[in-house]
This record gives sequence, C-alpha cells and structure tokens, in this order.
Amino acid sequence: MSGPTEPMGEGVRVIAIDGPAGSGKSTVARRLAERLGLEYLDTGAMYRSVAFAAMAREIDLADAEAIVELARTSDIQIDDTTVVVDGVDATTQIRGPEVTRSVSTVAAISGVREVLRVRQRAWAVERGGGVLEGRDIGTVVFPDAELKVYLSASVSVRAERRAGEVSALDYETVAADLAARDAADSTRQHDPLTQAPDAVHIDTTDLTVDQVVDELIARLG
Ligand code: C5P
Repeated sequence: MSGPTEPMGEGVRVIAIDGPAGSGKSTVARRLAERLGLEYLDTGAMYRSVAFAAMAREIDLADAEAIVELARTSDIQIDDTTVVVDGVDATTQIRGPEVTRSVSTVAAISGVREVLRVRQRAWAVERGGGVLEGRDIGTVVFPDAELKVYLSASVSVRAERRAGEVSALDYETVAADLAARDAADSTRQHDPLTQAPDAVHIDTTDLTVDQVVDELIARLG
C-alpha cells in the first residue's frame, strides 16, 4: 500500500475494476459506466501518459525522482476519445510499443503511484463517483468502493484481444509483452496487481461484454 486515503464522502458511487491487460476491463468499465450514467476513467492511460512524457523529454527511466516530478507537474487530460499530455495529443502514442514496454517501470515507482492515486480519487470525488479501471483500484485507490471487480481471462484470449486492438503488432509480440507486463505488475513491491479479498471475480474468457456487465449490475442490486 502507498499510504492512507482520504475518506470519500457521502453519495460518491465508485465501481473499481482491476485485472491484467486484455482481461476486458476497459470495454466492461465503459459499458457499465454508460448503463449506470457514471463517467469512466482508464487509470492505465495515466501511467502511460507519464511514460510518454518521460520519453518525450528523454528522461532516464532509472531516474525515479525526475519521473515522480514529471508525474506531479504533467498536465494529463483524459476524456472518452483522447489523451493530451502537456498540450500534445498522445492518444495513439500511449498505446504504441515504446510506451507499452516502459510503462511498467514507471508504474513501479511508489512516488508516481502516490501522485496518480491522489488524482484518481479527486477525479471521482469531483464527479460524485465513477467507474475506474486499473490494477490497484479496489485494493489501494478505492478500498471503500461500492463494488470491486477482478476480471481475468486466459492468456491466449487476452493476447488475441490486444493483437486485435493494435493492428501493427502480431500475436507473438503481443503475447510476449503481456507476459512481461503480467510478471512486472504482479511482483512489484508497491501496489502489485492482486485481487481484493472482497472483489467479485469474473473469468471473461468465454463471456460477452454484456454478459459480464449484466452480472455486475445484478451484483449492485
Ligand atoms: O491498463 P493498461 O494495460 O493500459 O495499463 C498500463 C500499465 O499501467 C500496466 O501494465 C501497469 O504497469 C500500469 N497500471 C498500474 N496501475 C493501474 C493502472 C495501470 O500500475 N491502476
């Protein structure tokens, strides 16, 4: 854990969705948010934005202090369709191979996580709640979420989904990247990817998006 969190306050409705890459988090979170009339935040895009900013400024990824400073000072604007970092449209580049390869290194820095965690909580409080997806939302960012969800899927299905999203990359490259990120994200010292004890676990391998979303709405009661 990176430290204590401020209380969220009454009437803030947060749904936390965690899981590895390709488990269906973004698609499920987006559709669930639509169905509930809430906004949606892809917290992975925030980590990717910091990695992008580091690359753009040629900051060495081993220089943790400089990367934390960057996380603190970078202007990261994320909406439904675009990601703008310090005034530069980074929507495509944050999904590219360079950022994808370096993002887990950036995300392993505890100071970066602290800065982004504060921003993520502020994002939800400003909106009276939301659906947030990432790796540590139910465990660290919103341990007080109304519903915590942990999505998983077989490695082959996850790699197929990701390869389908990034047309320039073949299945083998995507599968190798997923395995490396799974390992880095699950074994890092600070806020590793793990299922919260009170999270609903859904294996999405053989399910449609609507089947998963229906199940979650049923859980909300
Ligand atoms: O979700 P996505 O695959 O875009 O996330 C990119 C990376 O950002 C992950 O591999 C992980 O290293 C990091 N991340 C994180 N905590 C989050 C969201 C993403 O460490 N809440």
